[in-house]
Amino acid sequence: MAADDTAPAALLLERAADLIGAQNVSRADDVDDYLDSYALGDSRAFLPAGAVRPGEVAEVQAVVRLANELRVPLWPIGRGKNLGYGGPAPRQSGSVVIDLSRLNRVLEVDDETAYALVEPGVSFFELHEALLERGSRLWASVPDLGWGSVVGNALERGYGYTAHGDHQQFICGMEVVLPTGELIRTGMGALPGSETWPLYRGGFGPGFEGLFLQSNLGIVVKMGVWLMPRPERFAACRLMIDDEDALPQLVDAIRELKLDKTIDGVVNAANAVGVAAGLSPRERWYDGEGVVPDDVVQVLADDLGLGRWNIKCALYGSDALLDLKEERLRRAIEALPGGRVVVNRYDGDATAAEVAPGDHFAAGIPGMLLADGVRWRANGPTGAHIGLCPVSPLTGKHVAAASRIMRTHIEAAGFDYIGGWLATDRHAVNVLMIFFDAADPVESEKVRTAFAELVPLLAAEGYGEYRAHLEFMDAVADQFSWNDHALREFTRTLKAAVDPNGVLAPGKQGIWPR
Ligand code: ADP
Repeated sequence: MAADDTAPAALLLERAADLIGAQNVSRADDVDDYLDSYALGDSRAFLPAGAVRPGEVAEVQAVVRLANELRVPLWPIGRGKNLGYGGPAPRQSGSVVIDLSRLNRVLEVDDETAYALVEPGVSFFELHEALLERGSRLWASVPDLGWGSVVGNALERGYGYTAHGDHQQFICGMEVVLPTGELIRTGMGALPGSETWPLYRGGFGPGFEGLFLQSNLGIVVKMGVWLMPRPERFAACRLMIDDEDALPQLVDAIRELKLDKTIDGVVNAANAVGVAAGLSPRERWYDGEGVVPDDVVQVLADDLGLGRWNIKCALYGSDALLDLKEERLRRAIEALPGGRVVVNRYDGDATAAEVAPGDHFAAGIPGMLLADGVRWRANGPTGAHIGLCPVSPLTGKHVAAASRIMRTHIEAAGFDYIGGWLATDRHAVNVLMIFFDAADPVESEKVRTAFAELVPLLAAEGYGEYRAHLEFMDAVADQFSWNDHALREFTRTLKAAVDPNGVLAPGKQGIWPR
């Protein structure tokens, strides 16, 4: 980048320091906290020009107005833990990161109508604490790692595993700073004094909340999130099949159990190597070249008590209701080749210490249990992961096909197939987790190549990614080409209308200013 390209950003940082305090501004030489620590090779490939940490909505607006005046791109983050997708780093180098982590208040918790209103800097740990402190009867859903932002994760369409685990479905009501600095509230929030803002998705006229998901059309500064009343009892379930080839039957059985509401929570499935990677470094099992051989996979599965496919999911209700659900679940899974079920039941008011750590997911108790998975290949600080997550129908045929494509391809590139899928009622997010050593340029390049090849291969089968690393946002967006990219053109028309200077998160999800 030429020196004078960075001059407007430097000026923005200088003026922002006057507005929000120098201690809340990071200059270009102080951006290490805002780099992608899981970058493919070069962690400075997506290089911010600095960062600002506003503490009030009015400060967010002031920074956005400055960005318009000086034509400096901004990149909003909640807590910046979006690892595997770029972390806190911006799509366009030279952007100033607008770090919302100081906006971290849980503004409301309503026990009666079961919602919370949160700011974007609130982490899953903080929301959980706030609910405990208030003696609330409500539970939040949490993803695998609890350090991320409740708002950031929902906006990115992330998942947790309770009955509220499909996070985007439980957003209701937003306050948004538009790219020109104006402030709006969506839906009923536009009616002064309305208490239904976080309760009723509609409003009067079109609904806009979806517009701000995976989007560069606004900065969400408040969000309503529907919470789950604590159940009387809950069951954390492990379902396993020992026969890898029974995957299609397993998927079809899960779909039926989801559609008839036997299983309440989002279903998380992982292959044996995937579960083992969360528990141990690779060399404990295999230190040879190439992919972990099948007989070694069997050894690790036997040792760790795993199936070839392993599911965790949750059931909620009274013991009488859980008896019925568990019976149905067992009948469906134990009928599969090598099908097994393990269930742990708890009281809804059990404390975190009373629930086995591996079962915390079912009660929305945040943790960092799976953070060590990245050490699978690189048992040190440079272990990293990137996720490729194509969405398919929740049918055995499709999940097996997506799995086969990803497995064949990634094994040919020399990586273990760390596979899994998340299931709601009707679709599966098929997850390929690639663990690699970010410090190894050759390995990083292999990952990049495999990923770049897989995106169009999967798209040719009708499987589009639900989310993508900065590096692949354009490639993924290119696949969504129906009717000559009409949807992207429409989004760009909106972008031009609401962000005439193109300052907010240019390039996010493949949407660049005209
Ligand atoms: P987390 O810490 O939950 O992993 P991040 O804070 O890194 O999530 O946010 C993930 C992505 O979501 C960001 O890169 C950004 O594109 C988007 N995002 C996060 N917070 C906001 C927000 N308040 N408004 C708009 N977009 C946001």
